[in-house]
Amino acid sequence: MASQSDRRATASKTPRAARPIRGTRIELRQSPIHGRGVFALQRLATGSRLIEYKGERITHREADRRHGRDTVDEGPDHTFLMTLDRRYVIDATASRGWAKWINHSCEPNVEALIVGSRIYIFALRDIRRGEELFLDYGLNVDADDDPARYRCRCQTSSCRGTLLGATT
Ligand SMILES: [Zn+2]
Repeated sequence: MASQSDRRATASKTPRAARPIRGTRIELRQSPIHGRGVFALQRLATGSRLIEYKGERITHREADRRHGRDTVDEGPDHTFLMTLDRRYVIDATASRGWAKWINHSCEPNVEALIVGSRIYIFALRDIRRGEELFLDYGLNVDADDDPARYRCRCQTSSCRGTLLGATT
C-alpha cells in the first residue's frame, strides 16, 4: 500500500448482498457544492445498489504513471481513482459512468463497496428524491503531499476539514 502516491478514494470490502440496479434512479447535473454532481430522482432505500463505479482496472503503478501529482489540474474535489485492492485501481477518468461525479462529504449518504472485482455505490441511508449523493472519499495521498490541497468545503456539522481519510 505504500506505493500509492497520489489521491485515490477508498472502497470498502463488505460482503453485502447486492441488490440489482433497476433502471435509472439518479441523474447528473450541476451541483451547488462543486462542478457536476449526482442526484436522486426518487427515494433510494438504505442498502440499495445504485450504480457501478465504472472505469478501467489498472495497477497502482500505472495509476501513478498516468496521474502523477504534477499532472493533476482539475483539483482534488473530483477524484477519478478508486482503490480496488492492493494491486488494482479503478481509473474512471475516461469513463462515461456517472459515479465519478459523486462529490465528497464528511456526512456521506452513499458508500463505495467492492463486489467481486467491481466497485458499486450503495445507499448508506434512505435518500430523498432530489438529494445530492455524497461519498466520503477518504483519500490516500503521499506523506509529503500538502494536506492543504485537500481541504473539505462540505460545511456539514461533522466536517473534518479534509478530503483525506484517517491516517493508517
Ligand atoms: Zn467536510
